[in-house]
Amino acid sequence: MTLRPLVVHTQRRPVVLFSQNYLPMTRIDLKRAAILLVTDRAEPLDFVGQSWQMRSARLVLEIPEHIRLTVGGAERLWKVPPVNRREVLRRDEHTCQYCGSRKQLTLDHVVPRSQGGPHTWDNVVAACSSCNSRKGARTPERARMALKRQPKAPTHPVVAFAEQFWKEQKG
Ligand SMILES: [Zn+2]
Repeated sequence: MTLRPLVVHTQRRPVVLFSQNYLPMTRIDLKRAAILLVTDRAEPLDFVGQSWQMRSARLVLEIPEHIRLTVGGAERLWKVPPVNRREVLRRDEHTCQYCGSRKQLTLDHVVPRSQGGPHTWDNVVAACSSCNSRKGARTPERARMALKRQPKAPTHPVVAFAEQFWKEQKG
């Protein structure tokens, strides 16, 4: 069975997939949406939105813009990741938070450990080795080095998507 969209949409992943408890999770393409609907693992959500038709030899399938999973388990347990080199560099997009360099990255405690600064998400940033040694055991204010952004713990990927989704709906 080949599913073929009647309307070719410009967006590659036009369908928003909601979790069983109505949290918008991610965008998926029409093919994946069709599979979820045909196998009864998802149902159309009663939203005003556009829809697409896919037809095979025996079947015409209406795919709305928003569908909801009818099965659980999609939201895997997610914990705030540990504060380590790999996770901090990922959050900071492998960029020194003082000068923007992407080379020789180290971890810097914003408030130095020697001054009681904790090893927590809001006190650890990626810093290149030259910024790190220039800053030394000083706070950014003392060293007159500004952080590009205030460090904070990473957000659950689904929550981040949901926030973005609702922002777009309002806009
Ligand atoms: Zn730097």
